[in-house]
Amino acid sequence: MALIELRGVSRHYELGGSTVRALDAVDLDIEAGDYVAIMGASGSGKSTMMNLLGCLDVPSSGRFTLDGVDVGEMGPDELARLRREHFGFVFQRYHLLPYLDAVDNVALPAVYAGTLGEQRRARAQQLLQRLGLGERGGHRPNELSGGQQQRVSIARALMNGGRIILADEPTGALDTASGEALLQLLAQLHQDGHTIILVTHDPKVAEHAQRVVRLQDGRILSDQRRTPFAPAARAQLPAAAPLRRGLQALGRWALQARESLRSAVDALNGNRLRTLLSTLGISIGIAAVVSIVAISSAARDHIEKNLQGLFSGKLMVFSDDAKLPPGAKTRKFTPQDLHALGGLPGVRRIEVERSSQGSARVARKDATVSIQGNSERLSDKGLYEIVEGRVFTPTDQTGGAQTVVIDDTLRQKLFPNVAQVVGRTLLLETTQLPNPRTGQVSAIGLPVTVIGVVKSISDSSISFGGDSPVYVPMSTYLRKFNADLDAYFFTVILDNKQSPQAMEQQVRYRLRALHGQEDFRIWNAQKEFEKIQSVTGALAAMLAGVAAIALLVGGVGVMNIMLVSVSERTREIGIRMAIGARQSDVRLQFLIEAVLLCLLGGLLGLGLSWLIVLGIGAAQEQLKPTLSLQAVLVASAVACAIGLLFGTLPARRAARLSPVDALARE
Ligand code: ADP
Ligand code: MG
Repeated sequence: MALIELRGVSRHYELGGSTVRALDAVDLDIEAGDYVAIMGASGSGKSTMMNLLGCLDVPSSGRFTLDGVDVGEMGPDELARLRREHFGFVFQRYHLLPYLDAVDNVALPAVYAGTLGEQRRARAQQLLQRLGLGERGGHRPNELSGGQQQRVSIARALMNGGRIILADEPTGALDTASGEALLQLLAQLHQDGHTIILVTHDPKVAEHAQRVVRLQDGRILSDQRRTPFAPAARAQLPAAAPLRRGLQALGRWALQARESLRSAVDALNGNRLRTLLSTLGISIGIAAVVSIVAISSAARDHIEKNLQGLFSGKLMVFSDDAKLPPGAKTRKFTPQDLHALGGLPGVRRIEVERSSQGSARVARKDATVSIQGNSERLSDKGLYEIVEGRVFTPTDQTGGAQTVVIDDTLRQKLFPNVAQVVGRTLLLETTQLPNPRTGQVSAIGLPVTVIGVVKSISDSSISFGGDSPVYVPMSTYLRKFNADLDAYFFTVILDNKQSPQAMEQQVRYRLRALHGQEDFRIWNAQKEFEKIQSVTGALAAMLAGVAAIALLVGGVGVMNIMLVSVSERTREIGIRMAIGARQSDVRLQFLIEAVLLCLLGGLLGLGLSWLIVLGIGAAQEQLKPTLSLQAVLVASAVACAIGLLFGTLPARRAARLSPVDALARE
């Protein structure tokens, strides 16, 4: 049984309705160790024959066996395995990869065979040494002469063993001397036991072979043995690098991934401007999403800090007749009502809102103020900061002391040049409240002594109207200003651990029982706060959604550039396939390139959003957005996912190229 047997092998091309018979029912046997030249005019079918013999293509009909195994039935990956394990290709135009140096070009077939890096490079170096290129290992193809490049390509053909060497017009691009040297080299390889199949149109070249097969119009015209068949005395092949057959699938995948990563970096590095431009869409998309999320979460934090302190843990209760039958009247909240509610478990205290407009006077200065009787709130840490003196104690509240706590804006107005205001006296006046006994509205003046100055921590425009508040003890307020004991409005301060929703129910039941009707309305600040939060959340989500669309557009841009890259590098893909890359290897390579491109875009985008966040933080006081580690990780993962998503189509397109078509592409 011959090494190669063709029986009635045809290769037809359908071209515009007519059939081109590039090979027409060819029978041919080639023994192991033979040296065959295939000759013929242009268009006679030489290349077609070569592609079939090299398992780059399969016959349209007929039977092709290699070592007795039928090749016609094999799938792309099995053909790739045959090319890897049995063949070494030498092309007219060398077909080296321009961005790899000589050693890496030679070593490439072993990547697909799963040989580890160290062994690979050692063997490549050894082969180059043997071919007289020991000093040239670190040179790239454009730094080598044509003859040197062709020797590098022969070394590559020998990398995995190169039992059968297929050379298509190997001297076609060389000068006479280099061509002659190359033919000597092939003769030497034949001596060493390699089977050589050479395609040429040059009779002088064909003279080096032992046997000459002439083709015409896809048929064998003559088959002439020039010297008696004599397989090399030592039919012994130079040992191929030990293949890691035991390498687990995962290990092989990791090796492939690492090599793909390297060549992806090389490819992207080779065209930096384009790489940068094509990542722009992704960068902008990532920067937009990340900064919007950072800013909106900073805004939420801000709202939480400022509003929640003011409103959370409180229920506000108003007189309201909305739920009453027609004609029924609301009742004010009596001290008894408030006392009963104050006794509910989970209620810390009841605050009655008591305030009236008035003025504060000292010497010749005066200011309009809002006189506040609900001075218990001053003890709420987080709302007020004591800048001087102290605030009221529980004894102050009930004792009716004529003392006052003022805020720092009023202090500036009334005591601009006074170092120490505690102990000073001022006169509070109000005219608004009618005397409940006489019904007369008369001005009431009350001299009070300052015991402290506070500063409101949250924005004062949120807490009160324009006038500066002054605080007096509740008992003093009620007695001195003849205020009505009943209230239209009060606030329930809850214990921290209580659910505002549950407490709202409790207060509602109790108050309804006390009043016999629901003549009030409860405003649950927590609920309102959550509403605000969900609105700001939805707004941020919407903005982020818009930014995500930018991200998708960026992904489409990457897909576009990857498709261009695939068509530009079609021949490279063909070369990789010829030396044994599986479809999955090619797919992985382009997928990794797309992911790398997107990841690069993602990192640029993160850098950009970091600048945005810094800028916003520096430009104003209120919001201090930050980039969280989580944001960085999620953004990187999203960028990778986009690379996978949009790299799939170009990678598949690359992997599905037929090796013959890919190699033929200029
Ligand atoms: P040679 O290498 O001897 O010049 P080829 O094997 O390239 O000849 O081509 C043999 C014949 O097949 C030619 O007529 C050529 O036009 C045709 N042929 C080769 N490849 C294709 C193809 N992919 N599609 C259509 N026709 C082709
Ligand atoms: Mg040809």
